[in-house]
Formats: sequence, C-alpha cells, structure tokens
Amino acid sequence: MERKWRCKECDTLLGVEHGDHMHLRYKQAQYVVDGGDYNVMAVCRNCSTINERNGGRQQS
Ligand SMILES: [Zn+2]
Repeated sequence: MERKWRCKECDTLLGVEHGDHMHLRYKQAQYVVDGGDYNVMAVCRNCSTINERNGGRQQS
C-alpha cells in the first residue's frame, strides 16, 4: 500500500508513503523516514510552501 504525499498548495509530489516508511526524494538525494512515528517537514520545490506530515496511524 502506498500513499502519495503532495504539496497542499500546488500538488507537487513531495514523497511517497509505504506503510511505516516515508520516502522523500529531492534531486540526487533520497531519504527514508522510518519508525512509524515521525514528523516530517518538506519545503515544496515548486512553490516553497512548508508541508508537514505526521507518520503513523493518527493520520486519517
Ligand atoms: Zn507547492
């Protein structure tokens, strides 16, 4: 199961969530956030909006 994480303003793809892992990609770099109880902030590369996301089960 995977869920796309998109910028709330412009819909640019910021990352992909696979269960308890969040995969973030920016140019050459890839980040994987693990553990299921994370808090991630990403600045949209398109419109510079700050997006926040909480990992784990409290996300609807
Ligand atoms: Zn954006």
